[in-house]
Amino acid sequence: MKQTIRDIDWQGKRALVRVDFNVPLDDQQQITDDTRITAAVPTIQYLLDHGASVVLMSHLGRPKNKVVDKLRLDPVARRLGEVLGREVRKVNEITDAEAEQAAQSLQPGQVLLLENTRFDAREEANDDTMAQELAKLGDVYVNDAFGAAHRAHASTEGVARHLPAVSGFLMEKELEYIGGAVENPQRPFVAILGGAKIKDKIPVIENLLPKVDKLIIGGGMAYTFYKAQGYEIGQSLLDEASLDFCKRVLGDAQGKLELPVDCVVAKEFSNDAERKTVKISEIPADYQGLDIGPETVARFSQIIQSAKTVVWNGPMGVFEMPNFATGTRAIAEALARATEAGATTIIGGGDSVAAVEQMGLADRMAHISTGGGASLELLEGKELPGVAALNDK
Ligand code: ADP
Ligand code: MG
Repeated sequence: MKQTIRDIDWQGKRALVRVDFNVPLDDQQQITDDTRITAAVPTIQYLLDHGASVVLMSHLGRPKNKVVDKLRLDPVARRLGEVLGREVRKVNEITDAEAEQAAQSLQPGQVLLLENTRFDAREEANDDTMAQELAKLGDVYVNDAFGAAHRAHASTEGVARHLPAVSGFLMEKELEYIGGAVENPQRPFVAILGGAKIKDKIPVIENLLPKVDKLIIGGGMAYTFYKAQGYEIGQSLLDEASLDFCKRVLGDAQGKLELPVDCVVAKEFSNDAERKTVKISEIPADYQGLDIGPETVARFSQIIQSAKTVVWNGPMGVFEMPNFATGTRAIAEALARATEAGATTIIGGGDSVAAVEQMGLADRMAHISTGGGASLELLEGKELPGVAALNDK
């Protein structure tokens, strides 16, 4: 277990907090979705309420190691000020004298935001001089940026080696849910994997297969498994290089693996393409599978219904096209019902989270991960560098 902000006496201390303020901006540098800002507020508010001053740092976009005016954090500071209902001071530097002076002059209850950490080439190189300069800006380091924790950068990993380092509330919740599911799940434990590229999910399959009671595989990656069994998959997605892996998994799975039994196939990769539902053994050579079929939905839903822990990463079909979103929606609804019945349901992965949000079901899940890449690495069984660097309890 890692220490959290609850383990520190904050009175009169300066908290140096890594947050994920990587918000979407429009052409006018207006924030189009402030979820990431509001998500950080509980941690910031806790620190302020307990007598600390707060120095915040975040990256925004991909400035590629130089100052890019459009990626300055000023709009973020303004929005955060509105949300917190107090002034948020912003400096144009990350670690120089201006930043140091601003940090040192903070009184308890005051908030400072540093400039985009990725303007400094030393950030992504995890340069130790930058880490040391950052460490001068606070008494205790707090990491609340789960979405960046799989990267060992100066503001996510290096700095933690120079200060007492603890997790914020967002980070704590991600580790509790995703880490908890992987390490010590309530059973039956069901993992659902989907999406397009099997290659991306091989380490997840390897790590989860021995741990789960059922591994459900849908989406585009299911077809390589069918090919490995000798079925005709028509024009469906195929990853030749993963065929041997699929054969091995089919051999090792011992009844744990659940693949679709029917699918919705289409003549082209287009929403309006001619489509029909077929058994997996009957995919016509000139069609491609773009969604799971109704029999599969019924089967998968039943398994989900009996689970106590469900982890879902990767949509069941090409949900971006309404005609092929039915399977993904039905599985999301099955998870929502499972949550109501007391199961711990966890959604990880950028597209899966987007699908659940788009379907209006996000608040009916136990946990929606804020970090696609980071959640995938946790499911792979890896320790995230930004987490490893935090102090143990
Ligand atoms: P996540 O971001 O949740 O980890 P992935 O990035 O692995 O998910 O996969 C998401 C993509 O997979 C979506 O764009 C979706 O359209 C695609 N996909 C799902 N099923 C199929 C399919 N049968 N054929 C082609 N693409 C698919
Ligand atoms: Mg994705």
